[in-house]
Amino acid sequence: MEHFIPSDHAPPLRILPGAFPSLPPAVVCAAIERHTQPGDVVVDPFCIGASVIEAALALNRKVIAASFNPINLLAIEATLWPVDARAALTHLADARKGAQRLREHVLDLYATHCPTCRRAAVAQHFEWDRDRNIPITKHVNCATCGENIGPTDGADIEQATRFKPRSLPFWTLHSRIVDPKHENAERVGEVLDAYTPRAQNALGDIVLKFESLPEADRAALRPALLAMLDAATSLHAPNDTHRVIGLKPPPRFIETNVWLELEQQASFSPSIPQSLSRVATVAELIESPTPAVCLLNLSSRDLARQLPPRSVALLMAHPPQPRPGFWSLSAAWTAWLWGKAATDGLLPLLSRKRTNWDWQWRAIASGWGAFNAALRSTARSVLAFAYDEAMLESVVLAGGQAQQQLEHLVCDPFDGVRATWRAAPWRASPADQPAIPDESQIRSAVRQQTREAAGRVLRDRAEPTAWPILQAGIYAALGRSDALTKVAQLPDSEHVLRGLIHDGLSQCVELADQRWWLPHPPTPSPEIIQTISEEGERPLADRVELAVRDWLRSREMWSSDELLRVIYARFPDQLTPDRALVATAIQSYAVESAPHQIGLRPEDAAEARHAELMEIETLLLTLGAQLGFDTELHSQERGVIWQQADRVVYAFTLNTTAEVAPLLGASSGVLVLPGGRATLLQHKLARDPRLTQTAWQVLKFSSLRQVAQSAALTPATFQLAFGLKPSIEQSAVQFELW
Ligand SMILES: [Zn+2]
Repeated sequence: MEHFIPSDHAPPLRILPGAFPSLPPAVVCAAIERHTQPGDVVVDPFCIGASVIEAALALNRKVIAASFNPINLLAIEATLWPVDARAALTHLADARKGAQRLREHVLDLYATHCPTCRRAAVAQHFEWDRDRNIPITKHVNCATCGENIGPTDGADIEQATRFKPRSLPFWTLHSRIVDPKHENAERVGEVLDAYTPRAQNALGDIVLKFESLPEADRAALRPALLAMLDAATSLHAPNDTHRVIGLKPPPRFIETNVWLELEQQASFSPSIPQSLSRVATVAELIESPTPAVCLLNLSSRDLARQLPPRSVALLMAHPPQPRPGFWSLSAAWTAWLWGKAATDGLLPLLSRKRTNWDWQWRAIASGWGAFNAALRSTARSVLAFAYDEAMLESVVLAGGQAQQQLEHLVCDPFDGVRATWRAAPWRASPADQPAIPDESQIRSAVRQQTREAAGRVLRDRAEPTAWPILQAGIYAALGRSDALTKVAQLPDSEHVLRGLIHDGLSQCVELADQRWWLPHPPTPSPEIIQTISEEGERPLADRVELAVRDWLRSREMWSSDELLRVIYARFPDQLTPDRALVATAIQSYAVESAPHQIGLRPEDAAEARHAELMEIETLLLTLGAQLGFDTELHSQERGVIWQQADRVVYAFTLNTTAEVAPLLGASSGVLVLPGGRATLLQHKLARDPRLTQTAWQVLKFSSLRQVAQSAALTPATFQLAFGLKPSIEQSAVQFELW
C-alpha cells in the first residue's frame, strides 16, 4: 500500500478493552481489498484484536488468527462470541466456604461503615497510598445514602492490614502457576505481589471453587473472571485506562472489591449472538467452501507449520510488543483459568532478558520468517502500528531478517506507520549456504544508501521534514534492497543500524522540532521532476493545499473520508503529508453542508477569487496613490509595489492561497491574502522552521478593505492593518480616533 490510509477506531474488546493496541479497520480493509481476492486466506499471526477477523469475513475472505497468549484469545472470543455467565456465577456464589456461601464470605472481607451515616456497608473499592501502604479513601454504596466516598478509619486500616503479604493464600495461588523450585518462581511471586494480600485472600478462595465447577460453568465464567483478575490488581490508578507496563503499583492505586467486580463483569447479557462462522482447525478452514474464521492459541511458528505451502494471500498484523508485565500477569491468569499445563507457551517469557526490543525484533523475525513457505509468491505482509522509533526500527530489521523486501513504508507521525512487504527476490533457497557478510562492505553501502535516501526524501518534499517521515523514507530505501537483511545478520544489529543511519545523515541538518533539512537549496530528484512537472521545488505544504483546493473545486460535494483518500493517494510513499496539515488545509477551503459531507466555500470558487484579486489589486493601487506613493503593478507576479523616491517601501504579493513559496523566494514583502487562509498560513509557518524568523508581513483582504474606508488614513496608521490578527481588528474604535 503506497498510500497512507488514515486510522479509524476499532470497537473496543468487551473485556480488557484498554489492554492491547488496535489495528484500524480502515487500514485492514484496504490491505485485504488491495492484496487478496474473495475466498483467499488472510492470516493474523500476532492477533491482539478483532479487526482482521471482522474485516476479512465482511469481505468474504477466510481468516486465521493466532496468538501464543490464551489471554488475548479469550478477550477476542468474549467479544465475538459472547456467552451468558449469570447462571454459572450463581453456582460459584453458592459454593460453600465454611458455614458461609462464597459470595458472602468474600464480601465480608470488604465490610466497612458508610462514611456519611456510619451504618454497616460493603466497600466497592478503596484507594490506597502505596508508600504508606494503607487505604486512604473508601467508596461505598450505602443502602440509605447511596454511592458516597469518604476517608478510611482505623477499623478499615486494621481490616486491610489484617492480611499479611506472602501468607497462605499467596502460596495457594503461586502453586497453581509454577512449582516453588521453578526458575521463574520469584518472578511469579512478583506478579502475585501486584495484588493486595486481601485480594490474594479472596482470589485464593474464588480460584479454588472455580476449579471444582463443571467445565460448562467454567467456560461461561472465564471472560468475567479474567476481567475481574485484571481490575483487581493494584496496578490501576484512579480513573486510568492505561495498559499495564510494569508490575509496580502507581503511588495511588485502586483496590477493587473482587466479588462486586466479578458480579458486574458477569451481569452482561449477550444480545443476539453474531453469526461469525468459526472452524476449529486450519484444515477445516482451507477446505471450507465459505468464509470462516479459525482462531488458535498457537505461536506464529507453530501455526506456520500447520499451513499448506502457498496457501496464504496476506499476512496482516500489529507487530507484537515486548510486554513483560502483561506477559507475567497473563501466565498467572492462564494458570488460574485453565490450569498449569496451559501456561507452557508463556512461562519462558517470564525470563528477564526477554523484555526489550533487542530481543523482540528477533522473535518477530523468527515468527514471520516461518510463514515464507506458506505465503504465495504474490502475497504481501502488511504491518500497521502507531509510530514509535524503536518499534519501527525493530519491525524493519525483523522484515529484513525474515527475508522480506520492503515494498512501501508510509508514515504520518501523528497517525502511524503502514509497512508493506513481499517475498524478497534475494531470498536464498534452503540449499544455499548463507554467505558470511562482509561487514565493512555492508557498512559503507548502508551509509551511502542512507545519504541518497535522505537527500531524495528532503528534495522531494522540498520542506524541512519531521524525523519519523525521514526515518521511514530511509528504511524504505534500505528495505527495497537486501541492506536490512544483511544488517540483521550482524551482531548487535539494532545499534549498528542506528549508527550507520546517523553517519549517513551527515549532509543534513536538524532544525527546530526534530525537523531535518538540507543546508543547501535543494534540486528535485529526476523522478520527482517528472511526476510533478512544473511543481518543481514547491514545498509539500503548498502542493497539498493546492490539491485540496482543486479537488474541492472539481466537485460540488465530497464525503470527508473520500477526500482524505484522494489526497493521500495523490501524495504516496515519502510524500505522505501529516494529518494536521491535511486537516487544516481542508478546514481552510471547505464547509460542512451535511454530516460528513463537505464542499468548497462559495468565496473560494475560482471566478469569485479571481474577481476579488482584481478588486484588491485596484484597491492597493488607489490606496498607494492616495497615501502619496508611486505605485506599480507587476501583473505576472501578482504584485503591487509602493515606492517613494525610487525606494521600494512595500512590495505586495497578492494571493488567494496560503502558499509559503513566495516567502521562501524573497527575504521580505507583504503577503496579501484572504482572511480565510490565516489559520492555514499560521499552521504552515509554525511547521516550517525556515519561516519562523521571516521578515514578511501579512495583510488580509478584510483588513485592507477596512483601512481603505478610513478617512484619516496615513502611512503610519496603514501599518495597523498588517498581521494575521491586526490591531485594527482588535481595537477598531481606537483606530477611528487616531
Ligand atoms: Zn450511609
